[in-house]
Amino acid sequence: GVVLGIESSCDETAAALVADDRTILAQRIASQDEAHAPYGGVVPEIAARAHAERLAPMIAAVLDDAGVALGDLDAVAATAGPGLIGGVMVGLVSAKALAMAGEVPLLAINHLEGHALSPRLADPDLAFPYALLLVSGGHCQVLLVEGVGRYRRLATTIDDALGEAFDKTAKILGLGFPGGPAVERLAREGDRAAVPLPRPLLGSAEPHFSFAGLKSAVLRAHESGRYAPADIAASFQQAAIDCIVDRLTRALDGIAPVRSLVVAGGVAANASVRASLEGFAEARGLAFSAPPPALCTDNAAMIAWAGHERLAAGMEADPLDVSARPRWPLDPAAEPVRGAGV
Ligand code: ATP
Ligand code: MG
Ligand code: FE
Repeated sequence: GVVLGIESSCDETAAALVADDRTILAQRIASQDEAHAPYGGVVPEIAARAHAERLAPMIAAVLDDAGVALGDLDAVAATAGPGLIGGVMVGLVSAKALAMAGEVPLLAINHLEGHALSPRLADPDLAFPYALLLVSGGHCQVLLVEGVGRYRRLATTIDDALGEAFDKTAKILGLGFPGGPAVERLAREGDRAAVPLPRPLLGSAEPHFSFAGLKSAVLRAHESGRYAPADIAASFQQAAIDCIVDRLTRALDGIAPVRSLVVAGGVAANASVRASLEGFAEARGLAFSAPPPALCTDNAAMIAWAGHERLAAGMEADPLDVSARPRWPLDPAAEPVRGAGV
């Protein structure tokens, strides 16, 4: 069967058709980078309006590309949160209308579940359970993925997400928005040992993350005028990687051994981050899996795939009055950490 996926939780408008054999039959994605660039970050009102303008023709296009009719779908799966509520509502309401018109099930998908299961879309051999480092624009967590809908949070950030730290570093260095790819490019030309930067929480007993102090140190280094931007970018990226590896070590020491380490979310598109985690996994005798970069950043194929996973696990469809959720933790049992995000 085929699932239509819809993603609109941040600043990517995306639709995709994915078959249960993992084939991506059709996929369209429109980023809003130019619309938000003048503001240095995503403006919720602008994002919602852009989703509303682009989504319907995009869905028509993917159905047309693949020659699939609405009524032939196994389900319509849309991100129902967490994210910017205006955009989420555009996608979810569209999905409701399509599910009604095609008389097919509606699946309200947690965006983070899309990221968490995306490695299994790319890697058919990746079995549960696996340890997941989820590093995105809004999240930095280590999760034990025990199965579909079964996520145990082992660690989270007490302040900024890792993608946020990349974006803020880019802003400080005047690299524009979005910042992650620009920092990665500039870092290739720099010396990662040139700028002394802190590694927040390194060696601490709790496995949590912190990046706010690193960002402040980047700002001070830049304002000192003593360092080349490329050296700051490279040193920042290395400090962030050192933190990830140390915190991951601590998080994994607290659980029964797993066979696989997986990374997902926008920052997982970063080649240095991937290479370091691969080395870490190898040293610990873990299999390593990371989706191709295009499946790491926001996309609709991962949402369609999460829909397939839910259907295959025998989970029920959602009612047509299901709500959009601005906040929606993957592990509802996880305690807040020092007032941090979930
Ligand atoms: P969330 O998934 O937490 O709701 P989001 O959907 O906005 O947040 P993603 O699209 O998953 O986040 O990831 C975007 C983030 O990934 C941005 O912060 C961006 O800077 C970062 N990012 C993207 N590519 C790279 C890269 N090559 N190197 C580092 N960071 C990157
Ligand atoms: Mg984006
Ligand atoms: Fe995301």
